[in-house]
Amino acid sequence: MVFESLGEKLQKTLGKLKGKGKLNEKDVKAAMREVKLALLEADVNFKVVKNFVNKVKERAVGHEVMESLTPGQQVIKIVNEELTNLMGEKESKINFADNPPTVIMLCGLQGAGKTTLSGKLGNLLKKKGKNPLLVACDIYRPAAIKQLQVVGEQAKIPVFTMGDKQDPVNIAKAGLEHANKNGNDLVIIDTAGRLHIDEGLMDELGNMKESINPNEILLVVDAMTGQDAVSVAESFNDKLNIDGVVLTKLDGDARGGAALSIRAVTGKPLKFVGMGEKLDDLEPFHPDRMASRILGMGDVLSLIEKAQANIDQKKAMELESKLRNQQFTFDDFLDQLEQMKSMGPLSQILEMIPGMNKKQMKNLNVDDKELVKIEAIIKSMTKNERTDPSIINGSRRKRIANGSGTNIQDVNRLLKQFKETRKMMKKFSSMEKSMKKRGSMN
Ligand code: GDP
Repeated sequence: MVFESLGEKLQKTLGKLKGKGKLNEKDVKAAMREVKLALLEADVNFKVVKNFVNKVKERAVGHEVMESLTPGQQVIKIVNEELTNLMGEKESKINFADNPPTVIMLCGLQGAGKTTLSGKLGNLLKKKGKNPLLVACDIYRPAAIKQLQVVGEQAKIPVFTMGDKQDPVNIAKAGLEHANKNGNDLVIIDTAGRLHIDEGLMDELGNMKESINPNEILLVVDAMTGQDAVSVAESFNDKLNIDGVVLTKLDGDARGGAALSIRAVTGKPLKFVGMGEKLDDLEPFHPDRMASRILGMGDVLSLIEKAQANIDQKKAMELESKLRNQQFTFDDFLDQLEQMKSMGPLSQILEMIPGMNKKQMKNLNVDDKELVKIEAIIKSMTKNERTDPSIINGSRRKRIANGSGTNIQDVNRLLKQFKETRKMMKKFSSMEKSMKKRGSMN
C-alpha cells in the first residue's frame, strides 16, 4: 500500500496537535521536525521536503492557526493544502487535439511500463468514447511488438506494426496515416526504451517528436525506483519538454517519494498512476484526493467513481429487493462477489474510506484469499443447494468442501454467515414495516 508508513507517521504527529487547545511555536516546530523526517523516509526529494516544511511552518505559526479555536485541525488543513499543491492542485488531463487524431507519444526507460500503459490508456480512453490505434515503435526490445499486439487484443484495440526492420520515425508516420484512413481519433505510440538514458535514445525520440508533432508526450516512470524516477523525469523533460508523467507500479511502492517529488522537481504534472498489471489498473491522478488519502481522510470521490464504473445499477436494485423479500440466494452472493472483485483488491478499496488505517484494516482481517475461498465453495454447490441452502446436510457439506479444496469448517462458516445475513434482513424489513405502519397511523 503506497504511502503506508508516511500516512501513519503524519497522522500520528498531526493527531498529537489535534488534542491541544492552544498551540505555540515550539509545538509547531517540533511537529514539523517529525513531518520532515517522515517525508525524507518516504524518499521525497530533500529540496522538496525543505520547501514544503518551510511553507507549512510559515503558515502554521501565523494568525490563522494561533488564534483559531481548533489550532490542530488548522495545521492538518494546511498540511493537506500544501501536499495537494505539491502534487499539482488539480487533475491534469490529456491535451486532446482540436482536429483528430490526437497523438500521444509514450516514452521512458525499458521496463518502466510503456507497453502495458499503451493498452491501459487505450482501454481507459476507449471507454470514454475514443477510437484508439496503438502503434508499435519499439523495434529494439525483443518481443515488444508481440507484447503490444497481445495487449491490443485484450483491450480490443487495433495495433499498427511494420516489424522491427524499419526506422521508428517512419513507423510512427505510417501509423498516423493509417489512423487517418481508418478513422482512429486517437493514436498511442509505444516507443523504445533503453536501460539507461543515452544520447541515441534521446535523439531518436527528439526526431520523432519533430516529425509527428504529438499533442502529448507522456513520460512513463517506475514508482519503485524512487528518486531515480525523479531524475529520469528531469532528464527526459530537459531534452523533450514532456507534457506529463505517468507513474507506474505505485501498487508496489510503499514509500511514494516519486509521486510527491516529480511535480515539484520537473514542473510537469503527474497525469495517471498505474496500480497493477491488469488493463483496468490505471487511475487518473488527483492531487487533492491523494493528499486526503495520505492524511487518512479517505477518498470517497474515487470510491464512488469506482463503484459507478463497476457496479451494475440494475442488478443492485434487483438485489435490494431480493434482500428485502428474503429471496437472496448463494447465486446472488456470487454475483456480489464478482462485482466487488471488479473494483480491485479489497485493501485498495478500504484504503479510500475515511479514517481507515492499517491497524483497522488488520482488525477487519481483509484478505482477498478469503473471497476466493468463498467463491470456490459456492461454485461447488449444486443449483438447488444455492437456491435452498437448508438442504445442505452433512454429506453434502463434505462433498462441497472436497470439491472446493476447503474444509468442512470453512463451509460451515459460510453457511452460518449466510443464514445470519438472511435473518438480519428479515429483522430489518419487519422493523421497516412496523415503522411504516406506525407512520401511517399518525
Ligand atoms: P516497457 O519496457 O516500458 O514497455 O515495460 P512493460 O510494459 O513491458 O512493463 C514491464 C513490467 O512491468 C511488466 O511485467 C508489466 O506487467 C509491469 N507493470 C507495468 N505497469 C505496472 C503497474 O502499474 N503495476 C505493476 N505491479 N506492474 C506493472
